[in-house]
Amino acid sequence: MKILVLNSGSSSIKFKLLEMPLEKIICSGMVERIGYEDAILRFKKDDINVQETVPIKTHREGLSILANYLTHPQKGVIKNSNDIYAVGHRVVHGGDSFAETTLINGAVKNEINYYSALAPLHNPPNLEGIEIAEKLFPTAKQVAVFDTAFYQTMPIKARKYAIPNTFYTEDNIKVYGFHGTSHKYVSEKAIKYLGKETSKIISIHLGNGCSMTAIVNGTSVDHSLGFAPSNGLIMGSRSGDIDHSVIFYLAESLGYSLNEIKQLLNKKSGMLGLTGSSDLRDIQAKAEEGDKNCQLAIDMNAYRIKKYIGGYAAAMNGLDALIFTAGIGENSSLIRRLACLDMDYLGIQLDLVKNEKQTNELREINTDSSQVKILVIPTNEELEIAKQVLELLS
Ligand code: AMP
Repeated sequence: MKILVLNSGSSSIKFKLLEMPLEKIICSGMVERIGYEDAILRFKKDDINVQETVPIKTHREGLSILANYLTHPQKGVIKNSNDIYAVGHRVVHGGDSFAETTLINGAVKNEINYYSALAPLHNPPNLEGIEIAEKLFPTAKQVAVFDTAFYQTMPIKARKYAIPNTFYTEDNIKVYGFHGTSHKYVSEKAIKYLGKETSKIISIHLGNGCSMTAIVNGTSVDHSLGFAPSNGLIMGSRSGDIDHSVIFYLAESLGYSLNEIKQLLNKKSGMLGLTGSSDLRDIQAKAEEGDKNCQLAIDMNAYRIKKYIGGYAAAMNGLDALIFTAGIGENSSLIRRLACLDMDYLGIQLDLVKNEKQTNELREINTDSSQVKILVIPTNEELEIAKQVLELLS
C-alpha cells in the first residue's frame, strides 16, 4: 500500500511516497521558500530529478503542485489521489495528549492547534499540511506521528523544571523533547543489532538541530531538548544550554528586547554565532585552514556532547551503545572522534580507521576491545513515520 509522508514546515514541505510494507521509496520531493517568487521545487523518482524555481505563495499551492507531480502522466507514480492509502504527518508537538501515533479527526486537530502555543513555528504549518492533505487526498486516512510521543515515558524527575510546582501542574511547563521519531528509529535498529534482552543506549542526533536521548530497554529516560527545541547541545544556530541570567543581563543591562533575545539565541547563536556559518562542512574546512574560531567552536561542540554522554551514562548506571545519527552524526568523523576522545574510563574506545569509513548502512566504529559499541546509524524519519502509520492501520 502507498503511504505518503508529509513534513510541513514554516516555509517548506517535504514528502516521500513509500510502498509499504516493502519500505520502498517510490518518489520524494520538497518545496522550499514557500511565500517567495523564487520558491524551489524538487521531485525525485528513479533517475528523474526535477528542480524548478517557481513562485509559490502558499502551502496549499506548494502541496497542490506536489500532488500534480504524483499524478503527472509521464513523471507521475499514481493514477489519482485515491491510490494513496494513508498520509502520515510529522507533527512536532503533541504535548502530553499523544503518547502514540494517532488517526486524525476534528478533536485531534483541535489538540494540535492547542499545542501551537508551545510550538508556534512548527504546529501551525503541521496543521495546515494536514488540512490541505485532507482536501487533496480525501479518501486517504490521515495520521499524525508526534515528535514528542517518544518522551512520554520519561520519569518526572527528568521532565520537571525546578520552578514552583504549579508551573508544572497548571501551566504544563516541562520537558517535552523533540526528534523523537529519529531517536526511536535509530535506537530500535541498535537494539536489534545488539541482540541483547536489556540495553542502555545514548542516541546522539546531530543535524541542524541537535539532541541526545538516554534510552533504557527501548524507552527514553532523559533527553537534552526541553520545553522547546533549544536546550542542550550546541546547534547550527541555537545556543543550547545557557545560564538564564544571561537573558536577564541582555534585557536589563544591554537593552535587548525579548524578541531580539529570542532571535539571538535561536537564529544567531550556536555554530553560526561562534563562526559565522551554521554548516559544519564549511566550519571544518576553515578550521583545517587554521581559523581559530572554527577550531574552538568544534571543540566546544564536541565537549558539550561528551558532558551529556557522561551525564546519561551516570543516569542509566551503564552504557551498552552510543549512536551517532543525522547530517553531522552520520558524516562528521571529526565530531565523532572528538566526542569519543578520552572516554576509556566509560569503556568507550573509538576505532580511528573504522570511524573514517563512509557508508549509508549501520556501522560499528568502536575498537574490538571497547566495552561500549559506537554505532553510526543513518536516520530515516519518513520511513519511521510510514512504519508507524502502517502499524496503526493494520
Ligand atoms: P540534517 O539537519 O540532519 O540534514 O543535518 C544538516 C547538517 O549536517 C548540516 O549543518 C551540515 O553541517 C552537516 N553535514 C552534512 N554533511 C556533512 C559532512 N559530510 N561533514 C560534516 N557535516 C556535514
